[in-house]
Amino acid sequence: MAVPAASPHEPSYHTPTTAREAAALLARHGARGRFLAGGQTLIPELCRAPRALDAIVDLRNIPEFGRIQRVGDHIEVGAMVTISAARRALAADFPVIDTCFRHTANSAVRNRATLGGSIALADPASEISTFLLAYDAEVLLEGAGGGRTVAIRALLHVPLTHGTLVTGVRIPVPARDRASFTEFLRRRSGGRSLAMALARIAPGKTSVTVSGGVTQPVCLSGTSPSEALAALDARRADFESDAVRAWVVAAARRALAEAGA
Ligand SMILES: Cc1cc2nc3c(=O)[nH]c(=O)nc-3n(C[C@H](O)[C@H](O)[C@H](O)COP(=O)(O)OP(=O)(O)OC[C@H]3O[C@@H](n4cnc5c(N)ncnc54)[C@H](O)[C@@H]3O)c2cc1C
Repeated sequence: MAVPAASPHEPSYHTPTTAREAAALLARHGARGRFLAGGQTLIPELCRAPRALDAIVDLRNIPEFGRIQRVGDHIEVGAMVTISAARRALAADFPVIDTCFRHTANSAVRNRATLGGSIALADPASEISTFLLAYDAEVLLEGAGGGRTVAIRALLHVPLTHGTLVTGVRIPVPARDRASFTEFLRRRSGGRSLAMALARIAPGKTSVTVSGGVTQPVCLSGTSPSEALAALDARRADFESDAVRAWVVAAARRALAEAGA
């Protein structure tokens, strides 16, 4: 006669209080361990595959992960800061964040999902990545070799290795710029993003950061809006189809116009 299991498979659960401890715990459990942030993506995954993991390393008790602070001409945002909290706290220095992050999911998700989780997921159609790339942010990481800083533009094209912990982001505060964000959604797939663009216009420099469909965002710049658009026009290979590219160009034109081009 089969003996029922004494208890269902349950991963061990850890609540480290420092980044180093969190990284060490995950290293100990290898591929069957996972960091837990806001849980908006990981918890549904766990429900679908309850035996997939042996260890969960919850990041909620690491005090500096919840901080937002100004350091010189940068703002540092801890990995566990939620999308909603970042949207509120950064609005004075980055007014465009209000429109940009409002497009992410819905308020229930935004109040739980974190910047660290969003960066780790590296979803191409992400307002978070588009914003961070537009403002040339750096990502703070902790891993086997200790702490390091990587430009978001490099990280978007090289996925994080398993066990690397995002500890926060550092965003330069712009001196003077006008910015605007536009996004078009796919009607037939639950409102997923089709194309988005964040335009920034400063004296002598214009940039437009775009994301379309399945490709990671790219930032194109020039000395004027027409130069930035010409740079976008040259990037045909970055988009999944000509139709998506046309929507990306439309989003870029609208964002530039709204930023005052
Ligand atoms: C219904 C729904 C709609 C969404 N819509 C959008 C959208 O429109 N735009 C958008 O940009 N995003 C969207 N998202 C994604 C969401 O914004 C978050 O990016 C996502 O849920 C992950 O954040 P989290 O904090 O919940 O991470 P979790 O679910 O806790 O973790 C997700 C993954 O990241 C890893 N991880 C978490 N934190 C770290 C860290 N600090 N370092 C290293 N690895 C880490 C975890 O191990 C796990 O593998 C949506 C999510 C949902 C559920």
